[in-house]
Amino acid sequence: MEYLKEWLKKRKASGICRELFPIERLGGGRVRAAGSNGGYAESRGSENQELIDFSSNDYLALSEHPEVIAASRHYLEKIGTGAGAARLMSGDLALYHELEQEVASLKGKAGALIFGSGYLANIGLIPALIGRGDVVFCDRFNHASIYDGCRLSMARLVRFRHNDLAHLEELLIKERGQGRALIVVESIYSMDGDRCPLPELVALKKKYDCLLMVDEAHATGIFGKNGGGVIQEDGVAAEVDIAMGTFGKALGSYGAYVASSEEMVNYLVNRARSFIYSTALPPAVVGASLAALKIVREQPQLRRQLQAKVALFKEILGTGGVADLGPSQIVPVLVGDSGLAMELAAEGRANKVFVTAVRPPTVPQGTARLRFSITLHHSDSDLERTASLVVDLLRRRGLGSGV
Ligand SMILES: *Cc1c(COP(=O)(O)O)cnc(C)c1O
Repeated sequence: MEYLKEWLKKRKASGICRELFPIERLGGGRVRAAGSNGGYAESRGSENQELIDFSSNDYLALSEHPEVIAASRHYLEKIGTGAGAARLMSGDLALYHELEQEVASLKGKAGALIFGSGYLANIGLIPALIGRGDVVFCDRFNHASIYDGCRLSMARLVRFRHNDLAHLEELLIKERGQGRALIVVESIYSMDGDRCPLPELVALKKKYDCLLMVDEAHATGIFGKNGGGVIQEDGVAAEVDIAMGTFGKALGSYGAYVASSEEMVNYLVNRARSFIYSTALPPAVVGASLAALKIVREQPQLRRQLQAKVALFKEILGTGGVADLGPSQIVPVLVGDSGLAMELAAEGRANKVFVTAVRPPTVPQGTARLRFSITLHHSDSDLERTASLVVDLLRRRGLGSGV
């Protein structure tokens, strides 16, 4: 075990050691540093005060929505706490099929399959689609779960520069080969908040006869007329072969889905190991997802409210000279240096703002940033105060052009 000690010491010395940060959730998007780790919290300037949470993916605040909580409680009391078995054993309750139909219809696909989480979906789905002798074209900025799925598949992994269609096509010409080929992208990238050029990707996947898989983790519920994601907004749902996404973000619950053709669903039931060999989700969790989907479909005003909040936040930052804020509810404020990003995050906490400093290796060298995710928990005055604070902190360091 000496090895562990040495390893952790090195990690800490190089400033990249990950640490847990226990928090207490106060509701309404407020959190407080909690538990025995108070010293840790203090060292980071939060001193156990109430903080506004800018790190949550609960974009539509559905995790605290009364109807979602009521539906979850209903299934909890009706069915119990656990599914008791995998779907293929005795765990295949009717409500999973109900959720699958709802999500398939939201995503404009014939069928859907529920997985335990987005991570489990990606590591089960990708190895089911491709294998040895095949090739996968993967955007460099794709989520770790996608990369893990690619590695597990044993297919040849070819990475293309982020959102660079010319580079992708060059690689398609060179590396497409004779086997099956899969292109994997995210519609909204989790660390940059930018969007993939979906119609162009569809054209490429047709031209080079590939499957196209889109991870809509940060798009479902937020983009598209009914919250069906970027595939809906761009009108390409029919041409995207596989759309996956999580219930853990805008839908305020837990679990994930893969939406595709009926044959694909039947195939995955036979091939996706993370589906086959894992207990079905707890009924209360599925109940929450069902209620959340209904709200997403029926209440487009929630999306409009979120967009207005995002616009307000970016407008203040933009006026203060902070550029490249992207097109979504994920707002990266580029800082560059990792140490500086950590310092700014600590100053944020000292000012009641809980924001994550995202640093290499999660993002490329020299692109450390503060990553703000805007949610319906944030009041307009939260957003105004926070954006002004960021402008001010950057200006004091000679960053951002200021006015
Ligand atoms: C969060 C995320 C996942 C994983 O989803 P979980 O349900 O949290 O496991 C997968 N892909 C992307 C792009 C994500 O942002």
